[in-house]
Parts: sequence; structure tokens; C-alpha cells
Amino acid sequence: MARCDVCFRHCEIAEGKLGFCGARSCISGKVVQANYGKITSLALDPIEKKPLARFHPGSLVLSAGSYGCNLRCPFCQNYEISWSEEAWKLADKTDAVSPEELTQTAAYYREKGNIGVAFTYNEPLVGYEYVLDTARLVKQAGMDTVLVTNGTASLSVLEKLAPYIDAMNIDLKGFTDRYYEKVLKGDRKMVMDFIARAVQICHVELTTLIVPGENDSEEEMVSLSSWVAGLTSESGKTTGYEIPLHISRFFPRFMMQDRKATEVGLIYHLAEVARKKLKYVYTGNC
Ligand code: SF4
Repeated sequence: MARCDVCFRHCEIAEGKLGFCGARSCISGKVVQANYGKITSLALDPIEKKPLARFHPGSLVLSAGSYGCNLRCPFCQNYEISWSEEAWKLADKTDAVSPEELTQTAAYYREKGNIGVAFTYNEPLVGYEYVLDTARLVKQAGMDTVLVTNGTASLSVLEKLAPYIDAMNIDLKGFTDRYYEKVLKGDRKMVMDFIARAVQICHVELTTLIVPGENDSEEEMVSLSSWVAGLTSESGKTTGYEIPLHISRFFPRFMMQDRKATEVGLIYHLAEVARKKLKYVYTGNC
């Protein structure tokens, strides 16, 4: 038995079993990354798809994902690899790709406009050891690294990765504890602490998916954007006002089919609300 402290769940993992995220196990009394190098998805994506609007615009980034997640968003777009019966079967079906191999692949695509590697699709921080080993090599090869994350990880994990990550898109999925705890099975405070530190480390953009009836009020967007606007980088050079926020539209998916897609007009309205506090607000899926 061993305790994992990567996220707020602090899973006590029995020998040979998996933690809640399905990506971490206990071998010989120690927590290990069970999905190390198990790349289930690989694509050369436009950087805007991460989404990152203000980090090397117009470039491509080799995007890699594994399996497992420490949240349970019922509308997950990537449930086949994050949390579902299909996801749990991927462990046996997927061959491992070493950090060296992934770095070589990224370098190969450089002449096609690739700037580096993005760790994305599933939650990369439940397998942060692979991210760390690969990001080090990618940086040594003179390329960039991007992390697309739900921000549900301890600050000690973030500090380990800090020297090797150039940009992050972090979900700030809403701004109430009710939504984070009841719907996503997450912890809002852990995400807020993660974001507050990440903006001192690298380029950060945030994403909020607006789900009808859950996090779609004007008041919530005022609170969320005001909090972001109050953040500052360590040097004090970047203020929260300059942190890009992507507000995107929900579509019924996976286990949340009981409501319609978010009205486009509401997304535009909430973007206007956020623009009172933030300089760069983008709308997505509209
Ligand atoms: S990262 Fe996974 S195993 Fe570790 S505490 Fe979180 S859910 Fe549990």
C-alpha cells in the first residue's frame, strides 16, 4: 500500500492496484506511473487548437496523450481515453513510446512547422513523470513544451515541471465549489492555487466551458474574471489583466445529454462581461 499525493484525492493504492485516475499504481510499496509512455493519441495540431491564442500563433505542435484522469466531468469530449470502460482497457492495448522517441518524432516534424510537444488529450499531470522526462529532452533539442491540464495537481508537481514547460492552457471550469465538487468531482481550491503559481512560471491561458444551468450566470463570470485579473507574475511584469481567457460552448456529450448546447448569444454575452476585467477574451466552439 502507498499513498499518492499528486492530487487532492491522496489515493491509498493497494499493491498492484490503480488509483482513482487509473494512471498510477503501487509496486513494491511505492507509487509508480502506470501509464508511462503509453501514448494513445498523437497528432500534429495547430497551436490554436490547444487552445493557445497568444503563444507562437500560426504554428503546429506535436500533441500527445495517454489515458486516465483525476476528474469525472460527465461531458468529457475525450472519455474514450480519460475515464470510461474503453479507457481502462487501453493499458494493455497500448505500446510504450519512450521520451527519446517522442522527442525524435517532434524534431522530425520541425520542418513542417512543429514547435515542440504538447501534453494533452487526457490529463497529463496524473503521469507527470513522463511529462518531465520528455519535456527535458524536448527543451534540450531546442523546442517548446506545452501542457494542457485541468490544474488538479499539487504545487510540488508543478515545481518539478516548472523549468521545462513553456506554456500551459489550464481549465478553470467554473467558479463555484458546488460545480467543482458535485459535477466534476474536483477541488476548486487546488485548481486556483495551481493557476496562481503557474502564471508566475510560464505563459498561461485559461479555458472555461459554459454548461447551461451549471456555470452560466453573469455573476459567476464576474467573479471568475475578477479573480483572474487580480493575479500577477512573480516579476510583476504580467498582470492578470493580460491572461487570455477562452470561453467555450458546451455540446451534449457522453453522460451529459440532458441539456442543449449553450446558446451562442450567451457565450458572446459572457465574453463581453469578462472583457470588462480582461484584455484577451476568446470565444470557442461558436
Ligand atoms: S493522481 Fe491519481 S492516484 Fe494520485 S491522488 Fe490523484 S487520482 Fe489518486
